[in-house]
Amino acid sequence: MRELLATLVGFDTTSSKSNLALIGFVEDYFKSHGIGSLRVSSPDGFKSDLFATIGGSGKGGIGLSGHSDCVPVEGQRWASDPFTLTARDGKLYGRGSCDMKGFLACVLASVPLFKTRTLKEPVHLIISYDEEVGCTGVRPLIARLDKDLPRPRAIIVGEPTSMAVIDAHKRIDAYRTVVHGREAHSSLPALGVNAISAAAALVCELDRIGGAIPKKENDPHFEPPYSTISVGTIKGGTAGNIVPKNCEFQWQVRSLPSATPSASRDLAAFAEKSLLPKMKQVTDEAAIETTALNSVPAFVAGNTSEAVALALKLTGTEQTRAVSYTTEAGLFEQAGCASVICGPGDIAQAHAADEFVSIEQLDACMAFLSALAKELGT
Ligand SMILES: [Zn+2]
Repeated sequence: MRELLATLVGFDTTSSKSNLALIGFVEDYFKSHGIGSLRVSSPDGFKSDLFATIGGSGKGGIGLSGHSDCVPVEGQRWASDPFTLTARDGKLYGRGSCDMKGFLACVLASVPLFKTRTLKEPVHLIISYDEEVGCTGVRPLIARLDKDLPRPRAIIVGEPTSMAVIDAHKRIDAYRTVVHGREAHSSLPALGVNAISAAAALVCELDRIGGAIPKKENDPHFEPPYSTISVGTIKGGTAGNIVPKNCEFQWQVRSLPSATPSASRDLAAFAEKSLLPKMKQVTDEAAIETTALNSVPAFVAGNTSEAVALALKLTGTEQTRAVSYTTEAGLFEQAGCASVICGPGDIAQAHAADEFVSIEQLDACMAFLSALAKELGT
């Protein structure tokens, strides 16, 4: 398993890059165990999902799902090369070791175990791309379930939960807001429309909208127990002595499953009422436009979810939890596959410099998969 993890971490599958080398390796690995697999290519052919089935015949089956991509290492200070798996103090360091190549390595290492058993129903291995940029890569694969790909009756998404059983997560809506103003000499600012100043007012308004949410929402299942808003990037202007014409920023809303996000509407109303009239007095070209970039649905497992029941049984626990990050589970659940999130590693280490997964967590995941093989065996 450690060797497999070292190999997987060795592929730089940052979302902006191709994952085909990793997919080719996994395909060959499956082949060497007599398992066929099917690629679902991205439209440009630069990336691919992979779907493989082990044993069992007929319908249903259990899906084990993980994404192959990882977040960038740029701007982070690592103690060792992020793409060389490095062991220190019972922990394995490397980009993606926790999120979520650790789970994939455990699944691949368990293939011989699944192969040696006569399975009552199949195990489906699902590897996706572009999870980290809005869960976009798994969508074409989901669209093929029940067509040329079998639909698993339950899917375990192995995102890092420290092997806790997660039955709900929040939703993401991502936006870009662009402000168009007018350039002027900075000594005569009244001749221009300062796009950065307008963007700053919009960001403050978003903070105000976000700050009011805790008074309206409270679901203690989540941490924090309400929807949140966060601005992620901002850029604008060309020089210190020019009134900037353009400014844009990206922001996200992370909503409780029960909430209906309205921040983009509220922001547009604020712009219309409090900013644009003054801006338009200087130039008709002044504008504030917000574009929805991406949306990932919330995940709420059904009350009698087979996937949750299975994960509780395999982990020997009785408690489920909810998380604030999103995964592909919401999309699977929406597509009619009962889903649950359970995987090795702590989300606190995901996306960070010196990302690691503890060997103890990987061992717990191997035990979980071996319990699954036993459960599915005849
Ligand atoms: Zn992940």
